Amino acid sequence: MRYYSSRDTERAAGVDFETALLAGLAPDGGLYLPEQLPQIEASRWRGSGSPAALAARLLPELTGLSSERLHILLGDALDFPLPVRRLSAERYVLELFHGPTAAFKDVGARAMARLMDDALERRGRRATVLVATSGDTGSAVADAFAGAANVAVALLYPRGRVSAVQERQLIARRPGVRAFAVEGTFDDCQRLVKGAFDDPELTALGLSTANSINVGRLLPQLVYYFWAVERLALEHGVAEPPQVVVPSGNLGNLTAGVFAAGMGLRFGGMSAAHNANDYFVRFLHDDAEPYDFKASVATLSNAMDVGAPSNFERLFALAGSDLRRRLSSATVDDDATTDRMRRTYREDDYLICPHTAVALEALDRLRAGDEELGARPALVLATAHPAKFPEAVEAATGVEPEPHPGLAALVTAETAVTPLAPHHEALREALLRPPADA
Ligand SMILES: *Cc1c(COP(=O)(O)O)cnc(C)c1O
Repeated sequence: MRYYSSRDTERAAGVDFETALLAGLAPDGGLYLPEQLPQIEASRWRGSGSPAALAARLLPELTGLSSERLHILLGDALDFPLPVRRLSAERYVLELFHGPTAAFKDVGARAMARLMDDALERRGRRATVLVATSGDTGSAVADAFAGAANVAVALLYPRGRVSAVQERQLIARRPGVRAFAVEGTFDDCQRLVKGAFDDPELTALGLSTANSINVGRLLPQLVYYFWAVERLALEHGVAEPPQVVVPSGNLGNLTAGVFAAGMGLRFGGMSAAHNANDYFVRFLHDDAEPYDFKASVATLSNAMDVGAPSNFERLFALAGSDLRRRLSSATVDDDATTDRMRRTYREDDYLICPHTAVALEALDRLRAGDEELGARPALVLATAHPAKFPEAVEAATGVEPEPHPGLAALVTAETAVTPLAPHHEALREALLRPPADA
């Protein structure tokens, strides 16, 4: 399969999957897209038994790797349960948060780490993954790459601007991972990462990225859409294609769902649920032009606080204005988010994080305006464990969430963090200086 940049409309410069995976961003600044989505017959993917076995059936064409190789590589990446739980009113929740860092990003990050380390091994190369993080991405990436033979990780986060749980996740000591607490904002962290990529003195480090612009993170995510549709049929007797609702920020998760639909998986519709950072909702409702982004605002569902969703470019290259026909959407503010957490606890005896609450509330609003949709089963993606957001959950419900095993282990984990001034020279020196424990 060839991959093309979203900006290469003539399709002049395709690369293979491995090149796209190791590069992250295309040389022209665009995002890689497969030249076509392979059509996968139901007989081929049904009955695979585990997420890794399912990935091995779905991804050979897209990655150029054999089914056997994929099964081996992804077997220990996709090693946690992905249960589908039934709520009232024909609503089902896909729990994507049973991985080590308690958010769905574990799926893409862990699979990408195995794919990248394997590709580097075959090329006899090493890489340094540089990540600016304001929370969930950094810890998922650090955990995923910890101990990888051919990859070192450097995390940059704004000191004092992430939650206590998030910081503990970021600075837990892990082999091959260094955490830098930047004296500045998240924007400073992003600026430092950009600057490092432009510095010829750092070329030898083989700098790479691991956020959701990388196709290596997106492809593994399409697997759980297939997984959930099969769980609905086998465990809940739901054969009708579900309406899928995705709590969205950078739109990586939604893009993976659009890929799954493009490969032949049947949905009863797809919806994007956003918090006050509602660019995509405005775009879909024809109230905003493509790329007419706004600065982000802080909300309770902070992993979705994205003003300029990076995967918009990929989605727009894939479907253009047809997105408006194919997707529905809704915006949910913080009060309604809290209210939905409370109601879900009262009515369904189920604790949810603020991101999942945005999606469940969006579903209710979309159903209220559409009778046909109201009668259809719905599948809502639950993206983080409630214990990752204990303050918000307790404020809404009065209940302290049960601990998540991965988060509980962090309380006693050893930590290691290096303070960093928000200047390029400081980062360059830190990256070129070998870590103390190497
Ligand atoms: C990252 C994240 C999101 C948003 O996902 P995108 O792929 O960026 O749209 C939603 N919920 C949680 C908990 C996240 O960590």
